[in-house]
Amino acid sequence: MSHAGAGLDDDQKAVLTDLNQRLSMLTTTFEKNLLADTNDLAVVFDDVAELDGLTEGEISAAVQNAADRGLDGRYVLTLTLFTGHPYLSTLTNRESRRRLLAASRARGSRGNEHDNREVLREIVRLRAERAALLGYSSHAAYVTSDETAGSPEAVHDLLRRLAVPAAANARREQEALQELIDAEGASFPVEAHDWAFYTERVRQARYDLDRTALRPFFEAERVLRDGVFRAATQLYGITFAERADLPAYHPDARVFEVSNADGSALGLFVLDLYTRDTKRGGAWMNSIVSQSRLRGTHPIVVNNLNVPKPAPGQPTLLTLDEVTTLFHEFGHALHGLFATVTYPHFAGTNVFRDFVEFPSQVNEMWIYWPEILAAYARHVDTDELLPAEVVAKLRESETFNQGFATSEYLAAAWIDQAWHSLSVEQAQAVDDVAAFEAEALADIGLDNPVVPTRYSSTYFAHVFSGGYSAGYYSYIWSEVLDADTVEWFHENGGLTRDNGDRFRERLLGVGGSKDPLAAYRDFRGRDAEIEPLLKRRGLAD
Ligand SMILES: [Zn+2]
Repeated sequence: MSHAGAGLDDDQKAVLTDLNQRLSMLTTTFEKNLLADTNDLAVVFDDVAELDGLTEGEISAAVQNAADRGLDGRYVLTLTLFTGHPYLSTLTNRESRRRLLAASRARGSRGNEHDNREVLREIVRLRAERAALLGYSSHAAYVTSDETAGSPEAVHDLLRRLAVPAAANARREQEALQELIDAEGASFPVEAHDWAFYTERVRQARYDLDRTALRPFFEAERVLRDGVFRAATQLYGITFAERADLPAYHPDARVFEVSNADGSALGLFVLDLYTRDTKRGGAWMNSIVSQSRLRGTHPIVVNNLNVPKPAPGQPTLLTLDEVTTLFHEFGHALHGLFATVTYPHFAGTNVFRDFVEFPSQVNEMWIYWPEILAAYARHVDTDELLPAEVVAKLRESETFNQGFATSEYLAAAWIDQAWHSLSVEQAQAVDDVAAFEAEALADIGLDNPVVPTRYSSTYFAHVFSGGYSAGYYSYIWSEVLDADTVEWFHENGGLTRDNGDRFRERLLGVGGSKDPLAAYRDFRGRDAEIEPLLKRRGLAD
């Protein structure tokens, strides 16, 4: 394995060092340019009427943004990282929506000092050169050789197979939006900046749900014990005992001792639920001690969330998104707890990037599992069960707008693959970034102008300044495995010890010590198929 360049002679090593240094500089430049252009392209409005549809809070933020820029009396909307913007779903003024999306899509390609086109072309060339030096045909070949996928061809094959139904479904969604626009007597063809706005109207009409009214059904302690823990106990026989006597690194971080069905110790689970000033945002799992037979250590895994802390004496009521996050992160925790390999390097979640999300995604399936849901989703005051018609609507709404969401994601994943599958000669031959991107999207059939890519090359930070080059595909790669596994549980009786033990022994416990796809085959009895994912996203025929 020559991934780190171990087989190179001294001259080659020197070349490699130079390439890595230059690349590191270029990726930093890319990031700085993007930040500056994102800032410069914040959209300025003169009249509050142009912001109709935004909430009072959003408008006062726009006033503050303007004041921060010395533009008192005006309104400034700042851009998000991806192509779209949350406000596109509520801004009623069509011209305001158009300006916001146009600004977002212009980033890094305006011919000014923050232009990223030259920068990313050089990044692509140098990554291809580095791959060649290390014996690979392309950067994508180099990256995927160390992933579950194994080769760019396997990735391309999957993306192409998903693109066809995704694009077809986005077309159908587009027709529904056009019907709504026509029915209102407007006479324009739907454009990219209209998508979110009309989609939100269709969503409200179809799935009229007040999501904040759900929160009393999701009291945190009940979700944890009667939802997350209960599902794990029924599947794997493991039990949880809170150890208030074991202080963690912060008073809000609670420690639970986790035991196997036979009473033997498995490890410690730490839950750090609440947000606080010194904590970084988002949700994640980390392990303090990795399991290792060599070192004889038991794992300690931590789940971090950022749930606002309620007033003293008040219960913590979660949103459905937070419930999902709790189940998801606990899936990562189980992966860490169940590791049974000898070397700590391979334990639990130290696995392939295109595999690591798979166990956590699978654990989300128990959120709606009837007997689990009936145990945890009970009104905090009345103990009333979350009504069945609400559950049905929530499930139905999961396939809504998935043609668009899948298409915009696949388009970005394809752009990433297109750039990073180039040989050195091919990379040198590209002279027009926009044309290259357009050609790639046409090639895979994701060139509908109404459904733009989630990221265009010049602001695709994940792959040109973050750690996801040739790897943006990995989210959907692991979701294919996830959906196929969920189907396996359904076919085999669901929430049972037999099923849990099989999943634990053949997949979760294996970590990175074995080829994950071989482990998957061993668990599933065949390779993963994409149909369950298509069904889940409402993309199947
Ligand atoms: Zn995750």
